Amino acid sequence: MKSDIEIALEAEMHSIRDIASKLSLATDDFEPYGHYKAKLSDGLLNKLSARPTGKVILTTSINPTPAGEGKSTVTVGLGQALNRLHHQAMIALREPSLGPTMGIKGGAAGGGYSQVVPMQEINLHFTGDIHAITTANNALAAFIDNHIHHGNQLQIDPRRVEWKRVLDINDRALRQVNIGLGGPTQGVPREDGFTITVASEIMAILCLANDLQDLKERLARIVVGYTYNKEPVTVHQLGFEGALTLLLKDALKPNLVQTLENTPAIIHGGPFANIAHGCNSVMATKIAAKLADYVVTEAGFGADLGAEKFLDIKTRAGEFEPAAVVIVATIRALKMHGGVDKNGLIEENVEALKQGISNLKKHIETIDQFNLPFVVAINKFPTDTEAELGFLLEWCNANHVEAAVADVFSKGGEGGIELARKVIESCEKKTSPLAYTYELEDTIEEKIHKIVTKIYGGSKVDFSQKAKKQLLQLHKEGHNKLPICMAKTQYSLSDDPELLGRPEGFTVTVRELRASVGAGFIVALTGDVMTMPGLPKKPAALNMDVTDAGLITGLF
Ligand code: ADP
Repeated sequence: MKSDIEIALEAEMHSIRDIASKLSLATDDFEPYGHYKAKLSDGLLNKLSARPTGKVILTTSINPTPAGEGKSTVTVGLGQALNRLHHQAMIALREPSLGPTMGIKGGAAGGGYSQVVPMQEINLHFTGDIHAITTANNALAAFIDNHIHHGNQLQIDPRRVEWKRVLDINDRALRQVNIGLGGPTQGVPREDGFTITVASEIMAILCLANDLQDLKERLARIVVGYTYNKEPVTVHQLGFEGALTLLLKDALKPNLVQTLENTPAIIHGGPFANIAHGCNSVMATKIAAKLADYVVTEAGFGADLGAEKFLDIKTRAGEFEPAAVVIVATIRALKMHGGVDKNGLIEENVEALKQGISNLKKHIETIDQFNLPFVVAINKFPTDTEAELGFLLEWCNANHVEAAVADVFSKGGEGGIELARKVIESCEKKTSPLAYTYELEDTIEEKIHKIVTKIYGGSKVDFSQKAKKQLLQLHKEGHNKLPICMAKTQYSLSDDPELLGRPEGFTVTVRELRASVGAGFIVALTGDVMTMPGLPKKPAALNMDVTDAGLITGLF
């Protein structure tokens, strides 16, 4: 089969004006960025408010393994399949970060015959949103240091500045840096550090804001650090929410593109799914729901992280509910959960699959607890055997779980027709409201306890001494009512990446708590969560190139 970039470059794209007119958008509802991309205009959501709202379908997965699950691929393939069934369908995805693209992922725009295009642009600089977020984030960092340099009227303690600088590249050498060195005219020396742009609170804010005003209010609430008296200092106190909103005004507009089969897609925002909530923007999802009968969207990592945050954080911020969930599983990943080593995945092993299904079962129970109908999508890989696929389908059947094999990677929308039919049926089954994991009125400890026991299947939560102190502080500052954003390893249901399958009876240790007041959640850090990843010995970038004729290689 051809590579992702070869397939993408052969796509017969429609002009973005044709895609927009297919959605009944007027010429002033969008601003073309070249021939195949457009920004959706300010106020579009408002303008569309009288239109009926389509059904939102959330794609999630089992706990990821290095074998790969293919959530984006299935999301795109399902949208294409719904379109083939003559429904007005749209896809709403996250924008890839250049860090993982250059590092190990090589891109994140779906795969095979289920991709969003132009993939080379989506995977690189796209419409500049991530650069705008980087700039806004670093402008704020400069404003803080400038304030300290010019007399420090707010009495910010340079040792307690929490706001970090960012870069959208994996660069471990920048995790900890010293700034302001060189004498009195060079600023005030202090320790600082960089995180990756997609881990910035500004990315999370952009993705949770409902409009420009909401964006400004959230930016104003950001806590940048603490005074010598340990009082929080906000952006509003510094007075820069206006300038930051200005820097972000175009980035807030969702980006319209298309799939290989010309299904309209919105790509907008891409927060990390550990330190942040891992979903594309509220505005993208809500606009898509006004433009289409079905919107397929995804949340990062497995259902324990991405889907939980989509349901407990994003749907609250955007005041909407999904109609159904697709849980993506692969035979390869389930075999890994059943104890097979990465190098042994191509051999048939029904016994390991049987063991590994325990991981899928937990995620099924989790989605069921949210009161949401769901379908399991088995993302078919060439190495899957008939016996393995048959076993998994039979297991689903015996457990009254709707399931379909999705062959969207090699067949595009055609390979997702059965899945699409089942998803449509499951959307009709939603009769009761979404049941959140916790109430906002619960204490921070109660909320975390409920996530750990109900979603992860653990039995206990321990708080470090530092976290206990922070609990008191957060309570004192009045942040008790915010939802929780768990920062946990994506590989295991527990906080230990080595515990695959379905671990039970484990304790989760909360090492640190951080209030992302602008985004509107409390981050609970467990284990070592990396906010500035490093590059592998052989980064994906080594295989990337562009010829004189403009031929691109190495993106996938
Ligand atoms: P996720 O969204 O879960 O991170 P992606 O959809 O981005 O996963 O897929 C990860 C990688 O696996 C991509 O390079 C994609 O091309 C590849 N992939 C996904 N599904 C399949 C499949 N069925 N067969 C072969 N490769 C696949």
